[in-house]
This record gives sequence, C-alpha cells and structure tokens, in this order.
Amino acid sequence: MRITAIRDVVAPIKSDIANAWIDFSTMTVSVVAVVTDLVVDGRPVVGLGFNSNGRYAPQGLLRERFIPRLLAAAPEDIQGEDGLIDPHRAWAAMMKNEKPGGHGERSVAVGVLDMALWDALAKAKGVPLWRLLADRYRGGDADARAWVYAAGGYYYPGKGLDALKDEMRSYLDRGYSTVKMKVGLVPLEEDIARIEAVLSVLGGDGSRLCVDVNGRFTLEEAIRFGRAVAPYGLRWYEEPVDPLDCLAHAALATTYDGSLATGENLFSHQDARNLIRHGGLRPDRDILQFDPALSYGLVEYLRTLEVLRSHGWSPRRCVPHGGHQFALNIAVGLGLGGNESYPDVFAPFGGFADAVPVEDSRVAMPDVPGIGFEAKNALYAVMRPLERE
Ligand SMILES: [Mg+2]
Repeated sequence: MRITAIRDVVAPIKSDIANAWIDFSTMTVSVVAVVTDLVVDGRPVVGLGFNSNGRYAPQGLLRERFIPRLLAAAPEDIQGEDGLIDPHRAWAAMMKNEKPGGHGERSVAVGVLDMALWDALAKAKGVPLWRLLADRYRGGDADARAWVYAAGGYYYPGKGLDALKDEMRSYLDRGYSTVKMKVGLVPLEEDIARIEAVLSVLGGDGSRLCVDVNGRFTLEEAIRFGRAVAPYGLRWYEEPVDPLDCLAHAALATTYDGSLATGENLFSHQDARNLIRHGGLRPDRDILQFDPALSYGLVEYLRTLEVLRSHGWSPRRCVPHGGHQFALNIAVGLGLGGNESYPDVFAPFGGFADAVPVEDSRVAMPDVPGIGFEAKNALYAVMRPLERE
C-alpha cells in the first residue's frame, strides 16, 4: 500500500457566532485526501481528513513540511508488517526534523493527515475505525453508543433569552439531554440570567448543563463566577482560565467542588502531562477535552491516554472537543466518556452520520469502513472532489 498523491483544500466554516474570546467570521479548515494504490472493492483507497474547528486551516504547514515529508518517505518506512500504511510510522516520518516543545499549530497540520491515514488504514481493512481501535487496543470491546452533548449557546448579535431558550429546546427535541452554553463575554449578572433561562428549559436540573468560558477569566474572576454558579450543580465548568495556566487551575480546584473541564487547547501529550501533574485536577470528577484532530492526531492521542493511565486517570474522564466523527470513533472504540456535538454550528464538519439519530443523548456508529465520512452527505460532498485528480 503506497501513497500516490496527497491533495488539500481550504474550506470556510465561518459564522456570526462568538464565544468569550473569538468570533468565527473568518474560520477555516483544511481538508486532505491521501490517495493510495490499494484497491478495495474495485475502488482505490483514499483516506480523508480535516482539522477541527477553532484553529485555522494550516495550509502553509501542510504544503511546506508535512505533505512533502509523507510523500518523500520510502513506502516500506511507513508500512506495517501487513504491508498497509502504519499511522505510527507515518507520524514519525512527518515529524522528522521537528524539535520538541513549542508545538504551535504544526499539531493541527499533523492531526489532519493523521486522521486521513487512519481513515485509509480502516478502509484498507474494510472495517470502521472504531472497530479497528477496539480490536487493536481494547480486546475487541467497543461501546455500543457514545454519550454526546449539544454544544451551543453562543453569543450572537441580537440574541436574547427567548432565542437562547428556543435553541436549547431544539436540542432536547433532537434527542440531547445535556447541553452546553458559552459564558464569560458579558457581566456576571447577565450570564446568570442566561444560565437561569437555560435551566428553566432543563426543568431546573443543573446536572444537564455545562458552561464554557473559553479561557477568558482571570483566576479572581473564575473564583467569583464559580461561587455564583456552585448552587446550580452544573455538569461542568469549562476552560475557566487560561488553558496553559496550571497553577490557576489548581487554585480554582481548591474552591470549586463541582467538575472542571479543560484541555481543548493543549496539543500534545507533554502538555496534557503538565496539566495532570500541576493543574490540581481531580480524576474522580474532572473532564479532559483534548481534541485528537488538533493535537497531532490519534497516534499522539494514544500517548496522551497512556500518560493519563499512568497518573491514575480513566479514559472515561475524556470527552474530546470538536464534535467530529474522528473523535466519536475514538470514543466508541477506546471507551472514552463521550464526545462533544454541535447540532447547529460548524456544518458540515461537525455532526455525525446522517442515518444515526441521537437518542437519550447517545449516538451509535454506522458500520461503514473508515471514519464514516461517506455516511454524512453534506461533508462527503466537500471531500469527494479531492478523491479524484
Ligand atoms: Mg470549549
């Protein structure tokens, strides 16, 4: 199995929404196709991938470094003993001549290609990626379904409390029982009114609501906000402070008894290790949201899970950011705690297979080879042109 071509394109996922840090008016993603000479069922195997939302398309990095390195690698150097592409060996080829540390956004470029390589490998074997992962790393055990929650509640020009409630109601109507909303962009009293509006839709049950600050608060603001929302018993309090400030997390964790969640902006197993070592997080309640598509892909995510295990953390504490099918395969195949979902934003990259509805906040995986992009029409329409010259 040899790589014969790698194609990439930049696609927009812009929208008018905003969180406490950024708006998404110019957001883009890279989409790649890794074309191989292996033919299965009369079709050449093509691995497809894209980067998750929140980081821009890394086209320069892809074209200048990572695609050329993958194409320059000797086929036998990136194959396993079965003659198929080995994502671990391909990862090493891509990262040749890259110094440690300072991960920047090269982790996004590598993540895009890593996703496509796993898609190609699973297609070469004729199995869904979740099945491949369960067989290889979990003795064949795959979860029947993954827990997912509806991430939304963005700030949007002119959006009042009624619109926020309507949005949350529509998630419940679509089978979600837990929802997430953005906080931290407006004064505390306004956010409390927004939270209480959403809680009124959830029957007052705070365990069905997550709030996300996107790293906006200072430690003092985070403590103040935590004290204000503690009585609601929220499902979790996400990215309260800067994602790289371990000491601030540790300090906050001494004053906030509920679940904290963070990790979507940590892009390597070393960053994850620092968080676990120094961030004061608690393996019995806190949630880790590393996004494999942004953080060097699944090869690196497996290292991150190993770091967690060695520090006494279960994979069930992981609920990746990103709302994409790649992380959903990983959640089901490797037994994570679930996955984010964006029912209304980041289309067509967010969301899961078309024919698989969310029921009771859980979603099953389709039984199609690879990651399953072909079972999601709107997304496959963007990817398909890359399959052919
Ligand atoms: Mg978040």
